[in-house]
Amino acid sequence: MPEKNELMEKVVSLCKRRGFIFPSSEIYGGIGGFWDYGPFGVELKRNVREAWWQDMVQGHDDTTIPPGMPSAYAMVGLETSIVMHPRVWKASGHYDLFHDMLVDCRRCKARFRADQLETSQCPEKPSKRPGEHTNCDLTEPREFNLMFKTYIGALVDPESEAYLRPETAQGMFTNFKNVLATARVKLPFGIAQIGKSFRNEITPRNFTYRSREFEQMEIEFFCRPEESRRWYEYWRDRRLRWYVSLGLASERVRLREHAAEELSHYSCGTADIEYAFPFLPEGEFGELEGVAHRGGFDLRSHMEGKLVRRGEDLVVETGPDGKPRHPGSGKDLSYFDEETKERLIPHVVEPSAGVDRSVLAFICEAYSEDAIPDESGVLQPRVVLKLHPRLAPVKVAVFPLIRKEGMPEAALGLYRELKKRWNVDYDDKGSIGRRYRRQDELGTPYCITVDGQTMEDGTVTVRNRDTTVQDRMPLREIAQFLHERLTAA
Ligand code: ATP
Repeated sequence: MPEKNELMEKVVSLCKRRGFIFPSSEIYGGIGGFWDYGPFGVELKRNVREAWWQDMVQGHDDTTIPPGMPSAYAMVGLETSIVMHPRVWKASGHYDLFHDMLVDCRRCKARFRADQLETSQCPEKPSKRPGEHTNCDLTEPREFNLMFKTYIGALVDPESEAYLRPETAQGMFTNFKNVLATARVKLPFGIAQIGKSFRNEITPRNFTYRSREFEQMEIEFFCRPEESRRWYEYWRDRRLRWYVSLGLASERVRLREHAAEELSHYSCGTADIEYAFPFLPEGEFGELEGVAHRGGFDLRSHMEGKLVRRGEDLVVETGPDGKPRHPGSGKDLSYFDEETKERLIPHVVEPSAGVDRSVLAFICEAYSEDAIPDESGVLQPRVVLKLHPRLAPVKVAVFPLIRKEGMPEAALGLYRELKKRWNVDYDDKGSIGRRYRRQDELGTPYCITVDGQTMEDGTVTVRNRDTTVQDRMPLREIAQFLHERLTAA
């Protein structure tokens, strides 16, 4: 296996070479912090989203709820708009608070995140850290809001300012009443959404890890306040298990509970699920997902207005005139509990995951190198993506051994049958060894070859990506075999 620092380079190069991820607008030199997913990347990304939706939303498993808690809950999906009313971001606090501190160099015009000066490089040669060249001229750290601004309609004036959402969460809070009224859900229940978010990151880096346009998979789980701490623990542990179930090695993925001073002012618990990405130094981990206990902060903000902490309490921030500085909607977002006849503001637990960071972690984890014998028995190095079958972009590849004697027809027949259910590749070019290798690099779990014997007894060979073992199997059993290995995996 390659060394950690070498591994990242190899992953980036495989992603480019095999059509997983390309720099956006590459023919114009690329654009920092934006990425395109190629033919195989798009399938992998869809599989990540679908696994999440299947496991968290449609088919979610209530049997893992700890005893002493409600034994079931509803989970519904939502897809909300990227541009929302600008007041949403004022009431939520993003307008005032969603910023990083940035430092500019007046001389070379480079921009750095104030908290990353130690690990950044000045563009001047020889390479040094910002501020270390005698002629560096750094500004004091200044606030920089990460929300992308745009204008609605024809006029470019402050009245028409709007923002691209920096998270999908707010659309779920602003629709809380709509969901209650239409989905007939009772506490506890969750709302889930997958969608694009945008952050004008000062220093996008580490491939797709820190991008300016990215995708999130978020859940807002609403529950009674007295149960919220336990639901937080439930989601924190469940989300960690999800990554492991899809192949992340447990020694490279971990939970990190935030210390009290790291917590947002409204939270009584936050944990990051982190992965030992290969671009990080040995022993360091990067965030894959944040699981936050958010109390009643969000629903209250959208009712009353932007909240600030005063002592132990959250109060509406007021301006010099005594009125809310950023008023909420004024709508009642409380919940009436039919059983206890009580009106309350539900508490929220928010597991917020990044699709792109998950895809990157799954690729890094799956990347491996070994050596296997070629047709003449000589060991040849190979690159293989050992992706979980649910995530693999191509599930199975079908090959005719040679392009004659009825083999292409039989192979095409099988290909057409299988592709009704899965993403299947058909390949009749090059030696069988080369074809296997191509599929290994894409992470295809099985390759099926139609050969001379198929014509005689109706059997084909099925080759396993990880073991490279080939088994003979009747053609008519193939679909069932794949169903068991792929769908039920
Ligand atoms: P970081 O500290 O790395 O900037 P964050 O704590 O700001 O992340 P959250 O606001 O908790 O991130 O967002 C939830 C998830 O969205 C993150 O765990 C990550 O997977 C994803 N995410 C956030 N920012 C980016 C980004 N710039 N590029 C790609 N994914 C991102």
